[in-house]
Amino acid sequence: DDVPTVSAAELVAGRRAYELDRRHVFHSWSAQAGLAPMTITKAEGCYVWDGEGSRLLDFSSQMVNTNIGHQHPRVVAAIVEQAQKLCTIAPSHVNDARSEAARLISERTPGDLDKVFFTNGGAEAVEHAVRMARLHTGRRKVLSRYRSYHGGTDTAVNITGDPRRWANDYGDAGVVHFFGPFLYRSRFYADTQEQECERALAHLDEVVAMEGPGQIAAIILESVPGTAGIMVPPPGYLRGVREICDRHGIVFIADEVMSGFGRTGRWFAIEHAQGGDGESDPVVPDLITFAKGVNSGYVPLGGVAISAEIAASFDERTYPGGLTYSGHPLATAAAVATITTMAEEGIVENAARVGAEVIGPGLAELARRHPSVGEVRGIGMFWAIELVRDRATREPLAPYGGTSESMNTVVAECKRLGLLPFANYNRIHAVPPLIITDEQARAGLAILDEALEVADRSR
Ligand code: PLP
Repeated sequence: DDVPTVSAAELVAGRRAYELDRRHVFHSWSAQAGLAPMTITKAEGCYVWDGEGSRLLDFSSQMVNTNIGHQHPRVVAAIVEQAQKLCTIAPSHVNDARSEAARLISERTPGDLDKVFFTNGGAEAVEHAVRMARLHTGRRKVLSRYRSYHGGTDTAVNITGDPRRWANDYGDAGVVHFFGPFLYRSRFYADTQEQECERALAHLDEVVAMEGPGQIAAIILESVPGTAGIMVPPPGYLRGVREICDRHGIVFIADEVMSGFGRTGRWFAIEHAQGGDGESDPVVPDLITFAKGVNSGYVPLGGVAISAEIAASFDERTYPGGLTYSGHPLATAAAVATITTMAEEGIVENAARVGAEVIGPGLAELARRHPSVGEVRGIGMFWAIELVRDRATREPLAPYGGTSESMNTVVAECKRLGLLPFANYNRIHAVPPLIITDEQARAGLAILDEALEVADRSR
């Protein structure tokens, strides 16, 4: 391997960073005492190096955002070049990086979503999409899925359908949750994906009727829910949601913060809901929220892609919202370089191919061999392994919203063997950078295979 190693000076700097972190940095979603965060001293491609200088294969893409891999030279160069030219301007002024990023994004979004409002990340994108939907419809309620994640700010966390909402929910957010399709944990109601799709659409139809269609501004969902478990929707579900929205004048917001920009093997996950030939008859949401993969997280960036109709809603009246850093030059220059590079280097196609040929079949094989694996599911470079104590009862290896000694041991074993996974409750997600090679993917699978021995034993 001609990959770099960590120098003694870098290790010393890493140790100092750790000490300062524990003294001064307040961490997200955590009780602060007893935290032992991993130091990253270096990163390149699909690898990161920890505080001891050990190399780990990054099967997390950090926050499922480093789609193009770490330190891609073309993106780094674009940021440097933009910094030398123009670091910051007010959002009211035009700049070439932002204009070009908006064009590249609009060209990839389906239908007439040809206007882009830029934010600094995913939660802000969700905040603004909801605000646009409420102003456009004059209605207040928002429907969103249980088992979803939409961000950590006030509105976004209340829309979120996972336990992180609980402590932030004061009951007045105008948000109502519903059950999306999830056959594995919906087995008392449906036996097949077709039945599950039918059940989920009938349920949503009924929630809309009970909540008052004339009160509902938006239905928001992740085209493929990510953090909550990578539940690829059955064929027909997203089209069915589109139809329910059309029937009642409800805005359909597809949250593609995690699933967008190649993660599923397409630019946007909603493209998988297209007609049989994969091209015709697209399902077109009214708003798409994006962030993360748009520039692989090199500089904070997110946004909302807006349909012609909703954009026109603000032709004659002011859109009451904005951000100092909306369309920041460094962030949008990174987006231009990321999207261009991904297109020129066939990175989205690589995600689709390695997912279909190596990771998908490899995980299916692990599921056959390890009794701790309840289900593997996913698409492209977006995979979840659901760990259970008992395959028959499907009792999770860690409780919903919590951790367990067993799960902690499995994750620790992955790291010890040189793999950095994305773990959440009872799941391990295999979500590496989209540039991963067949060989690297196989190396990651071999480590998971070994770590799952620990899961099998600790059930
Ligand atoms: N929406 C989805 C689907 C996400 O996965 C996330 C983050 O994981 C967010 C919104 C929030 O994005 P951010 O953390 O950039 O605010």
